[in-house]
Amino acid sequence: MLVYKFGGASINNIDRIKNTANIIKTNASKRLLVVISAMGKTTNALEKIAEAYYDNRKEDALQLFEQVKKNHLDVVKQLLVLNWKAAEDQLKEFFTEIEWMLHDKPVRAYDYYYDQIVCCGELFSTCIVAHYLREQQCNVGWMDVRDIVRTDNNFRDAGVDFDFTTQKINDDIVPLYNTHEVVITQGFIGATDENESTTLGREGSDYSAAIFANILNADSLTIWKDVEAVMNADPNKFNDAVIIPSLNYTEVIEMAYYGAQVIHPKTIKPLQNKNIPLYVKSFLDTTLPGTVINGDKAAALPPVIVLKDKQVVIQFKSRDFSFIEGKPVEQLHEIFKKVKLQPNLSQNTAISLLCCFDGHVEKTTEIAQEASLFFDVDVEREVSLLTIRHYDKATIDRLTAGKNIVLQQQTPVTVQAVFRN
Ligand code: ASP
Ligand code: MG
Repeated sequence: MLVYKFGGASINNIDRIKNTANIIKTNASKRLLVVISAMGKTTNALEKIAEAYYDNRKEDALQLFEQVKKNHLDVVKQLLVLNWKAAEDQLKEFFTEIEWMLHDKPVRAYDYYYDQIVCCGELFSTCIVAHYLREQQCNVGWMDVRDIVRTDNNFRDAGVDFDFTTQKINDDIVPLYNTHEVVITQGFIGATDENESTTLGREGSDYSAAIFANILNADSLTIWKDVEAVMNADPNKFNDAVIIPSLNYTEVIEMAYYGAQVIHPKTIKPLQNKNIPLYVKSFLDTTLPGTVINGDKAAALPPVIVLKDKQVVIQFKSRDFSFIEGKPVEQLHEIFKKVKLQPNLSQNTAISLLCCFDGHVEKTTEIAQEASLFFDVDVEREVSLLTIRHYDKATIDRLTAGKNIVLQQQTPVTVQAVFRN
């Protein structure tokens, strides 16, 4: 049994849907559990609808939803020959669910509505791909994952109930393989014990796929992407980026922690716990070897570079020359927790604390305002945070040459520097 995960880019047009279906069909005899994201940028479009709805801009919300509906119905028309009616009927049932809600006034918290609306992207996409595969004579089952993955009601960042989900997978998914080779389901979403839809956090489909791999004791998980493999740096920013053929779990968790957009950070634990290898492969050229991630001892790695722009550095300084450690630092961490923004890097001096954050304007402004009740606060925006793991001196020198460094930290494995542009 193998688990495959396909992201939104793998199904963002007709040719790519056909290509994805072809990869599934070619490997169907291995018995597949397939997790698919929403098509292209659908999740972003659905977020806009949730915002409009919650702002009481009902007409905007409905109009934006018309566009999402049209995108999917157009795909159904262009892609499907025999099953278009069945697919359209299934989509229309989902549409009605959302539209009912959009006609009512919001009375609950935003995050609840966000999840009820945003969850439908993966329901639409998987419905279309499953119908297409059936037309291609592939024996697929489709499952609404909200009947399988049980979560708490921490909307937008729901926690998975592993015991209940394991039971459901064993009772409802495993028997499907008596009659089907492939089961297609959604990533990123789940439901509470009251059947309210939930989401697991943006880009959460990788994590869903890892949960399925863990519970099904899969031989491997493959995440199919539009890149050749995991690279040591973002090739859009560094033209000398190189492919990394193999990585161990620890390195990937660390890379994700420092902000490399490789894989959702929660993905590794369910795999590591059962020693299930993770393959990152290109859906554009399936003959390429890609990257394998497993528990083997780390191979020698090139410097791994993560560059995050649009960072904000805030300096908090005690007013009366008292030390910042202890109570004052605790006070600051309370504020970070409340605003839900944690520093990417922080450094103490005797009477000040310097923190580097992602550049959320609202959140960093709130932090600065709240902290200024107790501290002198200095905010500097538009700085960059460079992280190099497995660094060597030449790489540090090359990447920081001519930069005005505000803050630098170094361990034997990792160096981080915040600099002005
Ligand atoms: N569709 C969701 C998102 O765009 C989940 C995912 O793709 O992993 O965040
Ligand atoms: Mg994605």
